[in-house]
Amino acid sequence: SHEIRLKSRPVGTPAHDNFELTEVTLGSLADGDVLVRNRWMSVDPYMRGRMFDRASYVPPFVLNEPLQGGAVGEVIESRAEGFSPGDLVSSMFGWREAFVAPGSALEKLPRAGGVPDQAFMGVLGMPGLTAWAGLLEIGKPQAGDTVFVSGAAGAVGSVVAQIARLKGCTVVASAGTDEKCEWLRSVGVHHAINYKTCGNLDDAVKAAAPKGINVYFDNVGGEHLEVAIENARPFARFVECGMISAYNDTAPAPGPRNIIQVVGKSLMIRGFIVMEFAALRPQFLSEMMDWIAAGEIKWQETVEEGIARAPDAFIGLFSGANTGKMLVKL
Ligand code: NDP
Repeated sequence: SHEIRLKSRPVGTPAHDNFELTEVTLGSLADGDVLVRNRWMSVDPYMRGRMFDRASYVPPFVLNEPLQGGAVGEVIESRAEGFSPGDLVSSMFGWREAFVAPGSALEKLPRAGGVPDQAFMGVLGMPGLTAWAGLLEIGKPQAGDTVFVSGAAGAVGSVVAQIARLKGCTVVASAGTDEKCEWLRSVGVHHAINYKTCGNLDDAVKAAAPKGINVYFDNVGGEHLEVAIENARPFARFVECGMISAYNDTAPAPGPRNIIQVVGKSLMIRGFIVMEFAALRPQFLSEMMDWIAAGEIKWQETVEEGIARAPDAFIGLFSGANTGKMLVKL
């Protein structure tokens, strides 16, 4: 079986030589253990944070150890109660083709009708919950509001954009290619802005939302955040989900130059980590399953094939190589 280890800590944008593909022999199963063959693994922007050697809400990755991350696999052999060969399970043992772990570290997944297994790492998984809980619990969009979402063609952003539309909001979305913007329009986004070619982002947002925005769902930080502050209406809610434009910075970037407007406009700027909303998962799953069944929520995925391509998949997040959820098929 193969796995990917962190060989060195990236400085700036991650590169191939920060990763190492290694062959390992799996140990035998003790009582309570399960042997799982991974079918899909997730690469996520937050993993970049774990590559720094610093304290955070999750511990840093350890050098020369396999990386970790979300994965969906199939039980091959089980000595744990409740798991049988053929079961579909999710775990945090990504970045490896197969593994042995106690059943308590696994979650059994339903083989959901009509929904592909890998959806449990995207629209029905961590990114979906992030979008749903962040927008509804923090952004609190009201019908008639204007919602601005950045990184809108990605795993989180594409779900945010569609839920905002379902809630009766005008949706302004930004993404990095014309194809991504075209897809956003095809799922009902009212104004899709290609932030790389639009010229002045502030002008583009003003044209799309002349009365300003009530909610900003931030996936990218940087210039987008400054533009959102500039276009915020009084009492606008800022959902600070991520700031991918800064993840590879080697020195702290300057803050928004217009931060003073937070006072005069009475803005609420609130960050969160999805675990905060873990208890809402059953409610999220049931609402999302209903929306999917009704054709109200659509999604895309970008798939790299084989464990050896996992570093490329991860590195590709920072250049926008993915439309929708970035996945590796194992
Ligand atoms: P995405 O599927 O959105 O992939 C990342 C996308 O970010 C790329 O496709 C690219 O799209 C865009 N991007 C990359 N670099 C830049 C840049 N410099 N400026 C603007 N856009 C950029 O990833 P996710 O949906 O998984 O994650 C989206 C955000 O949500 C991330 O910031 C992530 O850290 C955060 N997150 C936060 C969680 C939480 O608990 N708070 C949980 C999960 C995710 P494009 O072509 O449009 O540039």
